[in-house]
Amino acid sequence: MIPVGFDYARPDSVDAALALLAEHGEDATILAGGHSLLPVMKLRLAAPELVVDIGRLGELDYIRADGPEIAIGAGTRHHSLEISELLAAEVPLLPAVARTVGDPQVRHRGTIGGSLAHADPASDLPAAVLALDGSVVLRSPRGERTVPITRFYTGVFSTVKEPDELIVEVRVPHTGSAGWAFEKFTRRANDWAIVGVAVADGRIGLVNMGSTPLRASATEAALARGASIEEAALLADQDTDPPADIAATPQYRRHLARVLTGRALRTARPRS
Ligand SMILES: Cc1cc2nc3c(=O)[nH]c(=O)nc-3n(C[C@H](O)[C@H](O)[C@H](O)COP(=O)(O)OP(=O)(O)OC[C@H]3O[C@@H](n4cnc5c(N)ncnc54)[C@H](O)[C@@H]3O)c2cc1C
Repeated sequence: MIPVGFDYARPDSVDAALALLAEHGEDATILAGGHSLLPVMKLRLAAPELVVDIGRLGELDYIRADGPEIAIGAGTRHHSLEISELLAAEVPLLPAVARTVGDPQVRHRGTIGGSLAHADPASDLPAAVLALDGSVVLRSPRGERTVPITRFYTGVFSTVKEPDELIVEVRVPHTGSAGWAFEKFTRRANDWAIVGVAVADGRIGLVNMGSTPLRASATEAALARGASIEEAALLADQDTDPPADIAATPQYRRHLARVLTGRALRTARPRS
């Protein structure tokens, strides 16, 4: 449980952090809240030579309206999502999901950028951003690019992010009249989801149903064709590949996906 030795840098700006990433390439790793990176380093599944701590960069900590979208700095903590009045009014799915992440300690340290970058298919926020049809803004010394969340994940714990890129922002559209809901099935309060279902405007994001966060595309298509919620929800596990672990078999996860999707679609409510 002791990580391999590493150097530590705490740059005072995003530009300085980017310069360090450009200089050290794959030998450097970003530290934000540390709630996923540090366990991974302690288990020696990661052994970066340099840890670049962006956890105190105020310039990455904001939630603001920007045209038809809400822009959220990558360093914004889960707790800030939870208590944001702007999000409560415009994108209420995000505070509702953030409220279910871990415990208060995790929510006061963990960041939305770290959660998306870590690419754990059991994480809640990536599936929520997927249901919202959001995007991720990546910056490097080469410039900035905006990647739709639908193209961000490439596999378990992997994304299109290059080693010299930093997630600087997450962008989500305002929720429309079709409403939102989040269903998270856990054995105990504060646990990770055995399965989770996020719904926003008829789009459905699934937690822990494959190697990446997934859309329940067959259900979405059935709803668009005019199928009832009951019929459409039965398709929620189509094209998924749920894992087997100590919490559940794949068959049980498939069952949960169908039940929770039906429940989420029935309770989806318009933003107030
Ligand atoms: C006890 C416990 C319970 C938890 N329960 C849940 C839960 O129920 N649901 C849930 O969704 N999550 C849960 N988490 C995970 C938590 O949400 C983490 O905070 C989150 O996954 C990672 O965010 P972080 O800021 O801590 O990232 P870090 O741990 O600092 O970093 C994680 C990874 O992302 C990279 N990274 C971080 N920020 C950036 C950036 N801006 N640009 C590029 N790369 C970056 C790092 O290099 C690292 O590879 C739990 C964690 C713990 C410890």
